[in-house]
Amino acid sequence: MIPVPDALKIIEREVFPLAAETIDLNKSIKRVLAEDIFADMDLPPFDRSQMDGFAVRAADTNPFPVKLKIIGESVAGKGFEGKLEKGEAVRIMTGARVPLGADAVQKIELIVENDGFIEIKEPAKIKQNIIKRGEEIRKEAKIFEKGEVISENMIAALASFGYAKVEVFKQPKIAILATGSEIVGISSVPRKDQIRNSNSSMIEVFAKKIGAETEVLTLVEDNIDNLKSAIAKALENSDVLIITGGVSVGDYDYTKPALRQLGAEIFFEKVSLKPGKPTVFAKLNDRIVFGLPGNPVSVAVTFYLFVRTAILLMQSAKNSKAQKGFAIASGKIKGAKERDSYLPVSVETNKKGQLVIESLRFSGSSNFIEFARANALAFVPEGKTFEKGDVVNISFLS
Ligand code: AMP
Ligand code: MG
Repeated sequence: MIPVPDALKIIEREVFPLAAETIDLNKSIKRVLAEDIFADMDLPPFDRSQMDGFAVRAADTNPFPVKLKIIGESVAGKGFEGKLEKGEAVRIMTGARVPLGADAVQKIELIVENDGFIEIKEPAKIKQNIIKRGEEIRKEAKIFEKGEVISENMIAALASFGYAKVEVFKQPKIAILATGSEIVGISSVPRKDQIRNSNSSMIEVFAKKIGAETEVLTLVEDNIDNLKSAIAKALENSDVLIITGGVSVGDYDYTKPALRQLGAEIFFEKVSLKPGKPTVFAKLNDRIVFGLPGNPVSVAVTFYLFVRTAILLMQSAKNSKAQKGFAIASGKIKGAKERDSYLPVSVETNKKGQLVIESLRFSGSSNFIEFARANALAFVPEGKTFEKGDVVNISFLS
């Protein structure tokens, strides 16, 4: 049995990075940048007005009241071309270029306009309501780095610097194979002794969320020959195979025997982890294979801890680990005696703004109805029980 951090080290060592490709910006969400991103222009590209009003020389407005002559206008997309001299003002709109000679913008609300002149009700200060050229970002500044995951919030920045296409690391192709003679498809009505396949849909969504391309394979019953041919076929066309079920030591648990008979190298098959102890990590024909214990909560926990890391590392992501933090236990949280526990919990912010853990009721590890409300894993070292008020390490499930 190996500790979770050791298992992660093995995964880090064994996964292979994928090549890069160029794709459309609008298809790039969740993908990992394979290039550094630079500003190709100053922003703003000219001194820009933040207000509708008049561009003036601040010195002309003090002492006040003062009368200034309107000599033209500067609108967005077509700035005033001349130069503003002493005693003059240029009408200006939000987003327009501040004319040469002006050093402040006074907002329209503080101005009375009359017969080609304006009267200013309040003096303007130098630079007031102006964003200077390059103040937001300078041309050639690096804005994002290779290895960052492209998020929705990065799109505006990428678009404004002309990245209609971006270079990203290729998507790992993930094949998902649920095994078990009791498992039927989700559109079926299970007969006696049967249950629906909740794992494949869940893994598909988890994997897509971190940039992978997925294929859900036909279910395989607990039959070693069928399992062997399904595994061999799955690996022809994928980088990673995720098998669920059949990883324990029961009479009909064929995942490990099938992998061994096909010549796979198994790096670990028992992790000091609850839930998820019999997790298998192997390689076959240079492809990655995970065998996850079949019950859906174990699948979710082991996916977040191990598979997610592997998929992100294959895309050369800088952050392949879940975001960590601390939260306060709102009640007793009991760990396992001989294994570290990573328990799905619901973490919320209390009235004081503190993160508080609400334990979820797990009857064994099979309660995926409770799991549906989880947003973090609470780490409970082996043999440890946390009491109300204790501070607990958590990793966010996102
Ligand atoms: P196993 O890992 O095959 O021993 O399965 C452990 C538990 O998870 C058993 O109760 C299985 O019925 C259940 N299980 C296995 N595979 C799935 C699946 N694809 N969907 C839902 N439950 C499953
Ligand atoms: Mg089984």
